[in-house]
Amino acid sequence: MSKESFLKLMKDEGAEYVDIRFTDPRGKLQHVTVIADLVDEDFIEEGFMFDGSSIAGWKGIEASDMKLMLDTDSAYVDPFYAEKTICVHCNVVEPDTGEPYNRDPRGTALLAEAYLKSTGIGDAFYCGPEAEFFVFDDVRYAVTMNKVSFEVDAVDGAWNTDTEYEMGNTGHRPGIKGGYFPVNPIDPGQDLRSEMLSTMKRMGMKVDKHHHEVASNQHELGLIFSTLTKQADELQKYKYVIHNVAHAYGKSVTFMPKPMAGDNGTGMHVNMSIWKDGKPLFAGDKYADLSDEALYFIGGILKHAKSLNAFTNPSTNSYKRLIPGFEAPVLRAYSARNRSGCVRIPWTESPKAKRVEARFPDPSANPYLAFAALLMAGLDGIQNKIHPGDPSDKDLYDLPPEELAGIPTVCASLREALETLEKDHDFLLKGDVFSKDQIEAYMALKWDEVYAFEHTPHPIEYKMYYSC
Ligand code: GLU
Ligand code: MG
Ligand code: MG
Repeated sequence: MSKESFLKLMKDEGAEYVDIRFTDPRGKLQHVTVIADLVDEDFIEEGFMFDGSSIAGWKGIEASDMKLMLDTDSAYVDPFYAEKTICVHCNVVEPDTGEPYNRDPRGTALLAEAYLKSTGIGDAFYCGPEAEFFVFDDVRYAVTMNKVSFEVDAVDGAWNTDTEYEMGNTGHRPGIKGGYFPVNPIDPGQDLRSEMLSTMKRMGMKVDKHHHEVASNQHELGLIFSTLTKQADELQKYKYVIHNVAHAYGKSVTFMPKPMAGDNGTGMHVNMSIWKDGKPLFAGDKYADLSDEALYFIGGILKHAKSLNAFTNPSTNSYKRLIPGFEAPVLRAYSARNRSGCVRIPWTESPKAKRVEARFPDPSANPYLAFAALLMAGLDGIQNKIHPGDPSDKDLYDLPPEELAGIPTVCASLREALETLEKDHDFLLKGDVFSKDQIEAYMALKWDEVYAFEHTPHPIEYKMYYSC
């Protein structure tokens, strides 16, 4: 949308406010609200100054001034505020030079798209993220449920999924892995999800479906694929709408990857394809009707998966999801059939819909950084013709130990992901898409989380060791 159309939208809607939004390095949407009278052509041209030192992982207090430049293309009417407000996503720039700020995640996403074009490999990278989430009546419910799981575990001496008997009668609540997808009242989320999806539709988002997921009170809504930066914007809106509709119903949503021990975790599979001159690059005559480029793209993803984990699985909680038995991947393998490897090729007859699905990402990721890093890993695969080897069409959870031993895994902890990223990040620096300074600052933020987690006694430790 041009500046003129944006100003016209403000006028037509009778906007009282403009909500200026951007995303911090950890992936949280931030905002500041400006009275609409001040927002004219000059305002859009000049940008909005703010204190960058108050955003974790950005500038120090001594050089705190930064500027937000409105991307008027991204404008939408806020569906929740009482006063009519137009929201707009922004890029962060240096106030003196007007250059993009190298630690701005949205800037990285834009640079990744520009880099793709500069390689001549393609001109559009499409992403289709499938972000799942849990709905709780309130946070205490999650804690209570986890307590039940811990106790059940102590009875059996090992994690298992056959816990419904010990949990007693759950009434109409879906039991462990019982959610996919009986009708209401076992599915308690129909109206909630419909309101979420309809809200997104009214905001102009491209959406298609919603459903209950496998775990109890876990859900997923369908976003239709779009190009990298646009899709990361859409994902931020997706989370914003889901949190706020749930809040209006007196519920609490979490996108944390493993809120419940013993049940499925929360993934954000990312479906990906590259197009060139209006043609899909990933359709071909190789395995699963993929092209060589698609196979090399998979090769790059599998090769760099452990450093990608620092962006696609960036919480300490992420690694409680990446364990066998819960439809989340552990092994760095690919297949057209099974869902237990890191990359799946969803079945489709249409060459236009040919895509590869990375299954390890989760929605604690910053979508701008995660999608950009996935693209850079895949491009590295194409540029260096990294073949992914043979596909693994067996259920990888059931492989005998001797076969398992030969297959590499994803990281087992955020610590391991950061240590791997430290050693393997040259593929991200190509075309100056990511910068060394940005990666170092991001890692510093994430090390703080690792230390906080490692240095804090965990409730289960009381159970296991209190009487030692
Ligand atoms: N919840 C699963 C995960 O952790 C994915 C289930 C699905 O295939 O949609 O990735
Ligand atoms: Mg799902
Ligand atoms: Mg999927």
